[in-house]
Amino acid sequence: MSTNEHPAGVDYKTIVEAVPAIVFVAGTGPDAPWPYVSDWIGPILGFTVEEWTGNDLWARQLHPDDRAAVTAAEAEMVRAALAAPQAQTQRGAFRLDYRMLHRDGHVVWIRDNSVLQRGADGTLFWHGVMMDITAEKASEHQLERRSAAQAAVASLGERALGGTPIDELLADACRQAAEVLGVDTCTANQLGDDGLTLALRADHGWTDEEEMRGEILLAPTSPGYRAIVTGRPVLVRDWATETELDASLPLVQAQIRSSITVRIEGPTRPWGVFGALSREPDSFNEDDVNFVVAIANVLAEAIERQDAEDAMQHLALHDVLTGLPNRSLFADRLEQALERVRRHPGTLAAILFIDVDHFKHVNDSFGHQTGDELLIGVATRLREAVRPTDTVARFGGDEFGLLLEEISSERVAIATAERIAASFARPFMLDSGSQFVTASIGIALADGHQESGALVRDADAAMYRAKQRGRARYDVFDEDLRMRAIARGRTENELRRALDGQELRLVYQPIVDLRDEHVVAVEALVRWDHPQRGVIPPAEFIQIAEESGMIERVGQWVLDEALRDASRWERMRPDHPPIRVAVNVSVQQLLNGRFSDNVSDAIRTAGVEPQTLSLELDESVLRDEAEQIRGALRLLKRVGVRLAVHDFGTGDSSLRQLAALPIDTIKVERGFVAALGTEDAAGPIAHAVIGTGVALGLEVIGLGAETLDQVVELRKLGCHGAQGFVFSEPLSAERIDELLATGGHLRRTVAP
Ligand code: C2E
Ligand code: MG
Repeated sequence: MSTNEHPAGVDYKTIVEAVPAIVFVAGTGPDAPWPYVSDWIGPILGFTVEEWTGNDLWARQLHPDDRAAVTAAEAEMVRAALAAPQAQTQRGAFRLDYRMLHRDGHVVWIRDNSVLQRGADGTLFWHGVMMDITAEKASEHQLERRSAAQAAVASLGERALGGTPIDELLADACRQAAEVLGVDTCTANQLGDDGLTLALRADHGWTDEEEMRGEILLAPTSPGYRAIVTGRPVLVRDWATETELDASLPLVQAQIRSSITVRIEGPTRPWGVFGALSREPDSFNEDDVNFVVAIANVLAEAIERQDAEDAMQHLALHDVLTGLPNRSLFADRLEQALERVRRHPGTLAAILFIDVDHFKHVNDSFGHQTGDELLIGVATRLREAVRPTDTVARFGGDEFGLLLEEISSERVAIATAERIAASFARPFMLDSGSQFVTASIGIALADGHQESGALVRDADAAMYRAKQRGRARYDVFDEDLRMRAIARGRTENELRRALDGQELRLVYQPIVDLRDEHVVAVEALVRWDHPQRGVIPPAEFIQIAEESGMIERVGQWVLDEALRDASRWERMRPDHPPIRVAVNVSVQQLLNGRFSDNVSDAIRTAGVEPQTLSLELDESVLRDEAEQIRGALRLLKRVGVRLAVHDFGTGDSSLRQLAALPIDTIKVERGFVAALGTEDAAGPIAHAVIGTGVALGLEVIGLGAETLDQVVELRKLGCHGAQGFVFSEPLSAERIDELLATGGHLRRTVAP
């Protein structure tokens, strides 16, 4: 303390000058000069006492954003004081925090505590203290920012968990981060597949100028590159003085002065970067960096989850082998396409149902690996044959579907089918060598009146007809096929009823021993007594039964019924060798793993010897190298039944295959028998087939013998038996009873 000037010994001036705040006496109103200000005006606002006193710098140095409010508050106080002239002072009248500008331009937070006092002449003056509370404000602000940051991260996390789409979430993150950080701009950039570029995916406050929104190349000196490579956040306090990193051109153009760049992780590699940008230098501190990292983490988690969901979705809707859409995605796209066709009358959509010809053969001969390779190759050719907007799907197995949208006419669909056929003209290069395959294609057109399921069925039916007409071709669904499809659906329903309503019955066609022409066997042939349509032959419904899965029930019924009759015939003639009964079996029945058990159960129930039963199979079972079929045949052989192939020679099965399987009998097909003794080209084949069967020690039976000459010829060639109208048409069980009761002879070419 220096000298005491005051009588009470208190040196006010010294005290005032020692307070680390601006102590002042000021006039009222913004233009009023200040009579007194303490030395601290220098350290706090950068002005000298001389500059400040007698001047109106106060109002001028108020922060522009606060000026209006502060001067209005001051004016209000003065107005109130003038209205109450009797009061000497208004203590504690003015207490306000506001911002001022330091002489060098930086912001200083001031806490202003002052009172109005009348001077000797009655003029009002402010007496007060202005304290620098910048540091206090900053930490207060910091706390606010921190809690705002926490809230933002939490709310973003919640939105992410709620399944918000990624793009929406990214935009949200940019907006929230910019708000919390108090900057104009935040961006989310995705790393390109090549790992060399960044593309803007979402932003808040970034410019709309197109060239500023384009992809940017990731320079090794860019903050994006640094963040992606190191995984550490990159904080640039001032781009003007930055020496290690270079700002990208858009950053320069946007006059960015400080920035934070952090990596957003992806499921398998970095997804991209999140950036906070400010036009002010030094806008960010460590807290802000942590906040941006937290935002990026939430985004990374959401991206990863979305990715997993996408993968699941993809898996559910695509074929694993070829990557093509599967049947259900195809159905979905078809549904949408039909919707569009309906909205735009006159346009068409087309469905192509594509089936690879003889695919099974490739699969069986060269193995599944080759089959898979071929399917992938087919998928590629199909994709190449259509526009990118068309859908190519794999329905399963060797079946593919194609959806052509917005086509003008049937011609376009046909041209596409032709293009596909042409693309199949080149061989497929597989590991096992090059492979030529063809495809059968069915086309159905949609003008908006059809229902999607029916369209696929129509295309399938057209494909089926293309196959029947010789494969390696296309066919278009038409009225004829429609009628057939309808008839088919009806037959299917009625067959269901027939099974329950005892409309099925069996007839038996005798098979004679060619030595003496007595009946050694009968073949059970199913008939359907339709209440309206009369007798329906098996050719008209067996295939439908096969395709609708009803064949197993039909087959079981035939088996039980035929064995019941067989056991009766056996009991009728205890002193004769039993009459064999041949029962026709579809491949589908063979494929049921329980088939041999069912057969053995039926035999046991009927109480007949297993050799009494002969199962007649299609030649296709020989060609089929599927282990399942071979296994089924072996099991049947173990049960003890006889096995016959009843159309041998019509397909392309080889002798080797015939010899390799446990077959007892071959029945020479009707066409060959008819060719015997004629000029028909099938004649020599018939000779060969019969000769082969005999040579292999198989029983050989000629089917469909209609003339005596044919019978003689069959016998000459060494055939053991014959079946045909020349001996007998198929007969009812009762007629067989009578035939057997009278000795069972059907002599035609031999003497009694
Ligand atoms: P499949 O096994 O080759 O039966 C012989 C067919 O030739 C029978 O026709 C028979 O009536 C006919 N046929 C016999 N001799 C002559 C002849 O001298 N001239 C002519 N023109 N035809 C003759 P169906 O009964 O119409 O049977 C046709 C096919 O239906 C059978 O051919 C068989 O593959 C199938 N089928 C019949 N019943 C069943 C069955 O219960 N189950 C299964 N899965 N298929 C059956
Ligand atoms: Mg048969």
